[in-house]
Amino acid sequence: MTGTVYLVGSGPGDPELLTVKARRLLEAADVVLHDRLPGPELLAEIPERKRVDVGKRVGGERTPQAAINGALVAHAREGKTVVRLKGGDPMVFGRGGEEAAHLAEHGVPFEVVPGVTSAVAAPGVAGIPVTHRGTASCVSVVTGHEDPEKPESDVDWAALAETGGTIVVLMGVRRLPEYTAALCEAGLDGDTPVAVVERATWPAQQVATGTLATVADEAERVGVSPPAVTVVGDVAAQREQVLAFLEGEP
Ligand code: SAH
Repeated sequence: MTGTVYLVGSGPGDPELLTVKARRLLEAADVVLHDRLPGPELLAEIPERKRVDVGKRVGGERTPQAAINGALVAHAREGKTVVRLKGGDPMVFGRGGEEAAHLAEHGVPFEVVPGVTSAVAAPGVAGIPVTHRGTASCVSVVTGHEDPEKPESDVDWAALAETGGTIVVLMGVRRLPEYTAALCEAGLDGDTPVAVVERATWPAQQVATGTLATVADEAERVGVSPPAVTVVGDVAAQREQVLAFLEGEP
C-alpha cells in the first residue's frame, strides 16, 4: 500500500502556531522531510529518527527540487506516512504546487494542510496590519528573489507602485536596496513607511523600520538577515501606535 504524503505548513516558527492538524500529522508521521524555515524551536520538537533535512546546502548547493520530489514518492511507496513540512503555508512561495503536481503525476495520494503564512503573520506580530480601513484596501505578496538560483526578477515594481495598497516582499533581504529604489523610481514617495521583520515569532525576532529612502541602510545597521518579510506602505507606520499597546501587555 502506498502511503500518503501531507504537504504541511508549519506557520512562521512559533510551535504554538502549528495547526492542530499539523501537530497530529507530525506525531503520526513515519518520516518528516523539512528545510530550515520552520525554525529551530519547532524542528527540535520532532524526533531525530523521523527527520530528513532536505534544505541543507551541501557545498553551497541546495538539495535539488527533483531529488525532494523523488524522495517523497519513494517514502510513500514504502508505505510510510510522509509529512513534507514547509515554513508558513505550503502553497505560498513554498513550491508546494510543484510537489503536489509531482505526487499526482506519480499516483501518490497526498493532502495539502495549510499553515499560517509569514506574509501575513510576520507583519502582524510586529504590529502591522496588512490591510487597514482607510489606509490599505489591497495587499500584494511578491518575491524579492534573494534566492541565487533565480537571478531574474519577474516582479513588475512599477505596476505595484501604481496599484498602491500594501506590498509584502518575501525573500527580500538581499535585494532590499534595489527594489526600494525601483519603487521610488516608479513614483512611490521616498517617505513611504517600510518595516522589515526578521525571524518573526522565533526567539530572535527583530524589526527594522524606516522609509523607502532609509530602510535599506537601517536594515544593514541592525544586521537584518533572512528569513525576513518586508512590508511597504502606510500600514507600516501603524506599528508605532500598536507597539505602545503591545508593550503595555503583561
Ligand atoms: N511558505 C512560506 C514562504 C516561503 S519563502 C510562508 O508562507 O511563509 C521564504 C520566505 O518566507 C523568507 O525569505 C521570508 O521572506 C519568509 N519567512 C518565512 N518565515 C519567516 C519568519 N518566521 N519571519 C520572517 N520571514 C519569514
